[in-house]
Amino acid sequence: MRPDILNPLFAETATLDGVGPKLQKPLDKLGLVRVKDVTYHLPERFVTRRPVENLDAASEGEQIVVALTPTEHRAPRSGRGPYRVLAQDAVGNVCALTYFGRASYTAKKQLPVGEKRWVAGRLDRYGDMLQIVHPDHVSEEGGDALGQLCEPVYALSEGLTQPKVASLVEQALARLPELPQWIEPGQFGRQKWPAWADALKLAHAGEHTSARDRLAYDELLANSLALMLVRADNRRRRGQPLQGDGGLRAKLQLPFPLTGAQKRSISEIEGDLAQEAPMLRLLQGDVGAGKTVVALEAMLIAVEAGSQAALLAPTEILARQHFETLRAMARPTGVEIALLTGRDKGKARESILMGLMDGSIDIVVGTHAIFQESVSYRDLALVVIDEQHRFGVAQRLQLAGKGRRTPHTLAMTATPIPRTLTLAQYGEMDVSRLDEMPPGRQAIDTRVVAQERVQDVIEAVGRHIAGGQQAYWVCPMVREHESEDIAAAEARYAALRERFGETVVLVHGQLKPELKDAAMERFARGEAKLLVATTVIEVGVDVPAATLMVIEQAERFGLAQLHQLRGRVGRGSEKSTCLLLRGDALSETGRERLALMRETQDGFRLAEEDLRLRGGGELLGTRQSGDTPFRVATLEQIQRLLPLAHDDARLLMERDGGLEGERGAAARVLLYLFERDWGVQLLRGG
Ligand code: ADP
Ligand code: MG
Repeated sequence: MRPDILNPLFAETATLDGVGPKLQKPLDKLGLVRVKDVTYHLPERFVTRRPVENLDAASEGEQIVVALTPTEHRAPRSGRGPYRVLAQDAVGNVCALTYFGRASYTAKKQLPVGEKRWVAGRLDRYGDMLQIVHPDHVSEEGGDALGQLCEPVYALSEGLTQPKVASLVEQALARLPELPQWIEPGQFGRQKWPAWADALKLAHAGEHTSARDRLAYDELLANSLALMLVRADNRRRRGQPLQGDGGLRAKLQLPFPLTGAQKRSISEIEGDLAQEAPMLRLLQGDVGAGKTVVALEAMLIAVEAGSQAALLAPTEILARQHFETLRAMARPTGVEIALLTGRDKGKARESILMGLMDGSIDIVVGTHAIFQESVSYRDLALVVIDEQHRFGVAQRLQLAGKGRRTPHTLAMTATPIPRTLTLAQYGEMDVSRLDEMPPGRQAIDTRVVAQERVQDVIEAVGRHIAGGQQAYWVCPMVREHESEDIAAAEARYAALRERFGETVVLVHGQLKPELKDAAMERFARGEAKLLVATTVIEVGVDVPAATLMVIEQAERFGLAQLHQLRGRVGRGSEKSTCLLLRGDALSETGRERLALMRETQDGFRLAEEDLRLRGGGELLGTRQSGDTPFRVATLEQIQRLLPLAHDDARLLMERDGGLEGERGAAARVLLYLFERDWGVQLLRGG
């Protein structure tokens, strides 16, 4: 149960003044569901404005404070247009104060014609006219005071304004309870950090590094602690020791010798499986490193020991591919492998369910469907999860309840992340790294091409597919611009289809699964030669005959993502090419990133460099988009503070084992605060 002391923080944002049904959606979009989310919605930066005598003294894009006298109110001509107030400065320059939506009511009240007002906001231009869109402040007096203000700038979503968010933050901060101290006193003293509530207030008030650090540290500590609790819990659980006799594995007729890294990983897994404590291991290996055969060997050990194994894939396409590959590889062993996805219905499904229950199926490959309530196993002893990052620890724990005993878990990821992040993300697991590629891989010829040359690129694609080979054309997909991005991908598809006809297919995240699968299948069978896609092809798709990849607006992708995408080609014996199309507005970092792509194909190196490139340039805590499990801590803070948090968490576990005592109780509060309470629940579950 959540400690009562946190209740005010876990109240819904609807309990704040001024939050009605209208604001709910924009708030949800930013993840601001509860009061605590608002308190942790830290400013992206701060703004101070320059007071100017008149607009001649200001430049476009600048944050200013200026005295203006409204001359005319212009209501929108059409329903959706903005409301404009024309105003003049001291020397007669005209500036429009522009308001969208309901904000126009404020404008009517605040800006009577003929009366001088101090206006604070960002000066920009609309056509020929200077304008300030949604001025941050309009006041009769106090131009100087406005010029002194240092104000937070928050991430917004449509329907929210800075003052609105600021007012919600202010209310939320007023509700902060007094929380117990969870930071080790020595650490707390050394760092000279502010107390928790003070740190939050400071972080919203200005650029207080130490306040930000303290808040990030809290989050990292919560994470480390929760992962250690999972680990400790796992050690106490009883799994099934699996001893294979090697009989099935000996029958495998692999067309290649295993690499050293594969052998090492397999024997690490074999060692874990023989233990009573369930295995909790991550197999980390770049695209093409050969994880599948490692997974197969692990599953065969389970089958040799008389049990069943399941492989969970993130999508139907991947489940099917894994199924085909595994079935082909395992054929000489005579092991029974089945595929189960949400699409299987009726008789076929019934017969698979029966087989899993009576044990005639040894290995099942599928999507989440394989862990539904209605699916039961005779003796499930090993679960392999492909692309672990899509499944959180919490889901995995749920999964653990499926077998009679806790099944062994092997998680696989092709996302080569830096060591620090591996600790942050997978700290509860042991790690096997496939850091050696199978021999004979050809380097992928990677080139950076300016977007202006897109016609040449299209011609090159044309020659490529005319020669019978296949190609990918990847369009960017960034969440904030989802609909625009889909539109761009569709437009590109339409153009390419016009040029090349039926042989072009399209796949993106908003397509119906049937259509998506159908397109993918046509491409995989070689009937379609050109696959236009958003990043949905990122994970695992294997079409060895595809040897050309074009990535449009490559600068919009992260290095890790580019690397993953590029890994789709170069899978066969033919030489492969990757063309990175770049726009003109390329930042210094963007340039460096693309250069690195050209230079190396080592995923682990790219991951470390990515971290370096992104970590360095951050001012305040710009949040990372989904690639770390953190909301507050930035990449730079993770690198700097995670080792400390990790050590402190260990101290806490060892000294106050089971989180007893005063600090233990405080640590529980921390876990709930950061919603890592699955850790606490394990404590109780025992
Ligand atoms: P991953 O899942 O790690 O991206 P896969 O398991 O799909 O990689 O393997 C990529 C390709 O490499 C497959 O075609 C596989 O048969 C092949 N492969 C795997 N291990 C070896 C090896 N030791 N030597 C040569 N080829 C290998
Ligand atoms: Mg794979």
